Amino acid sequence: MANQGNSRTTRILMIYTGGTIGMKESSAGMVPVSLDDLWEQLPDIGALPLELTLVSLERPMDSSDLRPEHWVQIGELIHRHSEDMDAFLVLHGTDTMAYSAAALSFMLQQLGKPVIFTGSQLPLGHPRSDAASHWMSALEVAMATRLDGLPRVPEISLYFNHVLYRGNRVRKLHAMGFDAFDSPNYPFLARAGTCIEYAEEAIGQGVPGNPFQQGNHNWFPALDNGIISLKLFPGLRPELWERAMNNPTVKAVLVEAYGAGNIPADEALINVFKAFVQRGGHLIALSQCVGGQVDLTRYQSGRRLLDLGAISGMDMTYEAALTKTMHLLGIGSSSFREAFAHSIAGEMGS
Ligand code: ASP
Repeated sequence: MANQGNSRTTRILMIYTGGTIGMKESSAGMVPVSLDDLWEQLPDIGALPLELTLVSLERPMDSSDLRPEHWVQIGELIHRHSEDMDAFLVLHGTDTMAYSAAALSFMLQQLGKPVIFTGSQLPLGHPRSDAASHWMSALEVAMATRLDGLPRVPEISLYFNHVLYRGNRVRKLHAMGFDAFDSPNYPFLARAGTCIEYAEEAIGQGVPGNPFQQGNHNWFPALDNGIISLKLFPGLRPELWERAMNNPTVKAVLVEAYGAGNIPADEALINVFKAFVQRGGHLIALSQCVGGQVDLTRYQSGRRLLDLGAISGMDMTYEAALTKTMHLLGIGSSSFREAFAHSIAGEMGS
């Protein structure tokens, strides 16, 4: 851990996990550099009134290598420093950033402090890189306080391309564009122009309890990945799905259905789902659409899932629904269905 200290001061813990922001070319393609190499390239924070503590995952990685145990490592750092830090910055690859931000929102509840994920589409060293502006703007968000001294954005958020999003509402929608992320079902939390404008009406909304309260957070490191996710397509063969769903270690199945949560009138498929629910599995209905929400009462084809006992994913992103399921299975929730239907961290509308 390296300290770049100065007098007063927002105390920020920056956790470097890897990702394009800190990558360089190699003969095998782009690979992450070490924290020391990254630090040399980051723009000088100059006279900013902050005290920055830097820490890295043991091995910075492409975020496609990230697993739930890395979320536990990131969360553990934040949990451990929840009292002695004012804000947290997570430098992360874009590929799985939406999963990590959503997972952390369930694992660390009621923190009352900013946790900002950011990364970039081009590495810091590239002349057209978006990295430096993401880093500086994320720091500015981390330092921003209201008149009463409380942080302006006490949420797990994600900053990218001039916009601050709620972390568990965001999806990576573009592989190449600088506008890699969007949050189709929730408004942005802030937008950066020459000034950063905060959307007060969106910040903290839909999060149970007082989102500004500090000193009383809950840390839930347990995650259970006994989950499969299945995307419907015309012509799917239910007997292939049946094999996967019959595995006794599978506790939940995320079904990416069509539109508002519709499935075909395929008796074999319905029987596979029925058997899974009857043995106590959680069948979760999501939509393949990016915006809008699941409504299993709208069409006869949606009622099929409802009649089977499926649980609606409402307007949650795939990433939020998946990590919420891992969290609820991990804590051994006795009322999974009920817990899933309620907002834990602002991940869904009412
Ligand atoms: N493959 C990279 C990663 O997710 C992509 C990026 O960071 O933009 O780590």
